Amino acid sequence: MTTTADLLVIGAGPAGAAAAIRAARGGASVIVFDRAKYGRDKVCGDGLTPRAVGALEELDIDVSDAHHIAGLRMIANSTVRELPWPDGTRFPNHGAVWPRRRLDAALIDAATEAGADVRWESEALPIMENGAVVGVTANGETYHAPLTVVATGAPGAVAKMLGTERIADEPFGLAIRAYATSPRHADQHLEACLTLQDEFGTPVPGYGWMFPAGDGTVNIGVGALSTMKGFKKLNLNTLLNSYRDMVQEPWGLGEYQERPRAWRLPMSAQKRHGEGWVAIGDAAGLINPMNGEGIDYGLESGMIAADLYLEDPANAPERYDKMVGDRFDGFLSTGRRFSFLIGHPWILKNGLRMAVGTEGIANITLQVMGNLVDGDTPGSAGRIFRLADRTLAAADPLLRRTRAAA
Ligand SMILES: Cc1cc2nc3c(=O)[nH]c(=O)nc-3n(C[C@H](O)[C@H](O)[C@H](O)COP(=O)(O)OP(=O)(O)OC[C@H]3O[C@@H](n4cnc5c(N)ncnc54)[C@H](O)[C@@H]3O)c2cc1C
Repeated sequence: MTTTADLLVIGAGPAGAAAAIRAARGGASVIVFDRAKYGRDKVCGDGLTPRAVGALEELDIDVSDAHHIAGLRMIANSTVRELPWPDGTRFPNHGAVWPRRRLDAALIDAATEAGADVRWESEALPIMENGAVVGVTANGETYHAPLTVVATGAPGAVAKMLGTERIADEPFGLAIRAYATSPRHADQHLEACLTLQDEFGTPVPGYGWMFPAGDGTVNIGVGALSTMKGFKKLNLNTLLNSYRDMVQEPWGLGEYQERPRAWRLPMSAQKRHGEGWVAIGDAAGLINPMNGEGIDYGLESGMIAADLYLEDPANAPERYDKMVGDRFDGFLSTGRRFSFLIGHPWILKNGLRMAVGTEGIANITLQVMGNLVDGDTPGSAGRIFRLADRTLAAADPLLRRTRAAA
């Protein structure tokens, strides 16, 4: 038997849920498949940038369950800069920490409320006909729709089938997180330590984070970019332990609540659309290489996909690719080039000193860390970004040729 719908969504994370909410509210019949059980957790730092809070507000999600975050504390060796999220951008002036189990449940519940039919424990795979996706199979059943939205997160079986895997030559990230109790669980700042070193003393392009969840716990984690010198030998558990030793006392950390868990951060995709399908969120490689954050991009790309489907189903994939490209590609490719640069230990060391050295530059670092900058950003952050964009684009072949040995 074949079931038909307007839109099929594979993956019930933030990106898939956003697409489902928007499309179902717009009157489309939507079926969402996730291979996990309802209430699944996703390995994440749980940090919501102001941009992510803006996207949740656009989706009318009640964020009162999330812990309010007023700004970012950046630490580079002995320099500590605590800055509020800026006013006057097109995003709210606050962020949040919302443990993924609860954030993702709030989103998918909103999708269900809007009328989407969510099927848990249902691994879905696309059905291809003459190079086009015409639907999916899940649990031995067949579903057909004019558009399938691929929201499957970091590449797996679906990415292999559709050719959306990450571009081999481009950077990606790895990160690990745990939860621990802390008397500072209600701190109003995200904390990022930018000067991590691995066990051999090599500076790590990445950061250690303390994200207070306001529920008695903090999310503690570390992440690193694949452009790092010696990346293949990097042991994330060891890196997390050494970061934990640094923050143990100032945060009064208790035992981990569960074993630390690591996951991949895709930062590119070979393609993100084709006839009958689009890829959104992590499945499209939409993660900021400069901070590893992608919830906001996932929510936005999900909304774009749904809106374009509602406007014009037949042309949605091409229009989606163009719109997502205009919004994200410039910033993401600059971020990826930048990550080649900071893969070199001496550049990283000196660059970090600069990144938090003065309040003015730290403010720009803040905007980059908050996913607040892109090609259209006005003011000094936007100007510096556009200059970096042009300079790094010109230096691209050199950056790749001289990349640090992984
Ligand atoms: C350690 C770590 C820390 C991070 N910290 C942050 C942070 O603090 N802030 C931030 O913004 N971002 C962070 N990120 C990135 C963030 O987690 C992702 O960008 C975000 O989860 C992307 O959402 P998504 O909906 O695209 O994918 P996901 O959240 O990965 O959801 C994909 C879903 O698809 C389902 N699925 C996959 N294949 C199939 C299939 N074939 N059939 C059915 N279901 C399938 C999975 O079960 C899953 O539920 C972090 C990532 C890591 C690894």
